Amino acid sequence: MRKKVLDSVKKKLIQKMNDILEMFEKEEIEEIGDTESENVIGDIVDRANNIYELQVLDRLSEYEQQKLQEIRDALIRIEEGVYGKCMSCGQPISEKRLLAMPEAKMCVACKAKHEKGGVISR
Ligand SMILES: [Zn+2]
Repeated sequence: MRKKVLDSVKKKLIQKMNDILEMFEKEEIEEIGDTESENVIGDIVDRANNIYELQVLDRLSEYEQQKLQEIRDALIRIEEGVYGKCMSCGQPISEKRLLAMPEAKMCVACKAKHEKGGVISR
């Protein structure tokens, strides 16, 4: 995927993660300025992991817990350089979909199959 798209997706994920983490971190979080910096993802993933360790997840709704996990996983995939591929079929997920839903793990087709609750056999 294009670097421009990846950068923009990365910013969105970091911002979303920050919004969730802000609910748990007492200290004011500094504005994230430089998402180009190497450590931004590492730092934010660390913070997300701390939230898990603090066992404050019961203060999150199920939806928020799921989001936290999905966003963290997406950031880890960016770090590992495997971001943007469908976890199910391995095909690249469209940039349009990733921009609309940066935490997406699956392409539209696989997601649709999943939501129907099974593999469509043909
Ligand atoms: Zn797929």
